Amino acid sequence: MKILLANPRGFCAGVDRAIEIVERAIAVFGPPIHVRHEVVHNRHVVDRLRALGAVFVDELDQVPDGATVIFSAHGVPRAVQQEARRRGLNVFDATCPLVTKVHLEATRYAREGYSIILVGHADHDEVVGTMGEAPDRMFLIAHPEDVDRLNVPDPEKVAYLTQTTLSVDDTRDCIEALRRRFPRIVGPSKDDICYATQNRQAAVKTVASEVDVLLVIGAANSSNANRLVEVSRVMGTPSHLINDKNDVRSEWIAGARRVGVTAGASTPEFLVSEVVEEVRRARSAEVREVHVVEEDVRFGLPRELEDMARGAGKTLPPRSGTAAASE
Ligand code: SF4
Repeated sequence: MKILLANPRGFCAGVDRAIEIVERAIAVFGPPIHVRHEVVHNRHVVDRLRALGAVFVDELDQVPDGATVIFSAHGVPRAVQQEARRRGLNVFDATCPLVTKVHLEATRYAREGYSIILVGHADHDEVVGTMGEAPDRMFLIAHPEDVDRLNVPDPEKVAYLTQTTLSVDDTRDCIEALRRRFPRIVGPSKDDICYATQNRQAAVKTVASEVDVLLVIGAANSSNANRLVEVSRVMGTPSHLINDKNDVRSEWIAGARRVGVTAGASTPEFLVSEVVEEVRRARSAEVREVHVVEEDVRFGLPRELEDMARGAGKTLPPRSGTAAASE
């Protein structure tokens, strides 16, 4: 049997950066450091940071006055930023720069008087944050069928944006439906789906075409991990979303000649290694990396945090770099 490992997989540059911001804040200020929501959608990552001294909260009213708080990689609504400022909290924003880019687009379109259609999943943290940039002007859709139900004040003045972690193919269908209904619609040149989401889906398409079953390691609330499962299933390849090696079921791999493995953008690489070992424990197998796209994206850290660390004479751990991409 063969195990095919999709590459790229796992941590993206936005997740790396968010985790490093929490680690550095703990190193500089000492625990506890408050983090609003899961900094990234992965229980193993959250548990490790909690053990280092991070305290995860749902809302800012759980953060004491004068404390340091970190916003998660998914971004926050503008009202949360304003509340943090009003309370004088010491904020480090771990919002992924590619999510911030969407927020800035929303702000610009709102300022120019557009109604903004956001393609995304209701209740996902990122969508809540982006909708919060211009709550009076935003309309949310998830499927092409939703377009007919839209009721915007001026159909000649409409813009669209997308969540960063959607299915590339489904989003194209949504945008085509929007263009049919609103021929003068404006938006980003293609969509806002980030490089990491696109690359992981491209790698899954290649691997899914060669395997009998695909295991996607990621959390149930991770949008990009769920999309990887969907992409594989659309191609007719059975796929299962698992948290870690404990979720691997022997019946999934019993008759397989080839098993694919990949991981969502919030999944640490050690979970991939453990799943591979678990599969090999059940059946001896060769492991092969399937390189589809090379990644070398890296985002800078907030300068104030680095300056504070230097000012306090703290030695910070070296930056890790993106997981699968650096292999
Ligand atoms: S999945 Fe994309 S948008 Fe989300 S944190 Fe990673 S790089 Fe940023």
